[in-house]
Amino acid sequence: MQIHDKHFKPFITAPQIQERVSELGKQISQDYAGKNPMFIVILNGAIVFASDLFRSVSVPCTLETMSAKSYGSQTTSSGTVTVGAHIPNVHGRHVILVEDIVDTGLTLQRVTEVLQQQHPESITIAALLSKPAMHKTKLHLPYICFDIPPAFVVGYGLDYAEHGRNLPDIYVLDEEHTL
Ligand code: 5GP
Repeated sequence: MQIHDKHFKPFITAPQIQERVSELGKQISQDYAGKNPMFIVILNGAIVFASDLFRSVSVPCTLETMSAKSYGSQTTSSGTVTVGAHIPNVHGRHVILVEDIVDTGLTLQRVTEVLQQQHPESITIAALLSKPAMHKTKLHLPYICFDIPPAFVVGYGLDYAEHGRNLPDIYVLDEEHTL
């Protein structure tokens, strides 16, 4: 499969994703019963994951969005995080940040710092993917669908130069076929 100049190979299938997302939804529903959690989707990459996760949560909850960007080049983290102007009011709420992938963790660390200023009751993270070998922060990550090696992935919301987000499966960069 090709997007722009790069080749990608199949990595995690749509049924595998659906199974894990629904397990995570059940776990969150148990852990947050009676807490009326606020899900905050980090745009744009987490939109697809969040729409499936949110529908697999069975307890009363609300939904908000925030934008944060950390990518300087197209396939590596820049380390500089820009948080968008719209910040939901999280005062006294149990917040669940929904992210597509935790790479260095700097994006989530920055978003968490910004939200802490409003004194939420709690903040936790739900992410589709995590690359433990790349983490540069000590984030507590209780809700991860898949830990993956430090390779570049696309699909199910994740892009390469804004393309590939609509793919139902997740693909990984095929180094052998990419110059
Ligand atoms: P972090 O701040 O944790 O280093 O980076 C998180 C952001 O980098 C993610 O929200 C995502 O937008 C982007 N990112 C990190 N790794 C990948 C990857 O393998 N594929 C894609 N498409 N984006 C990634």
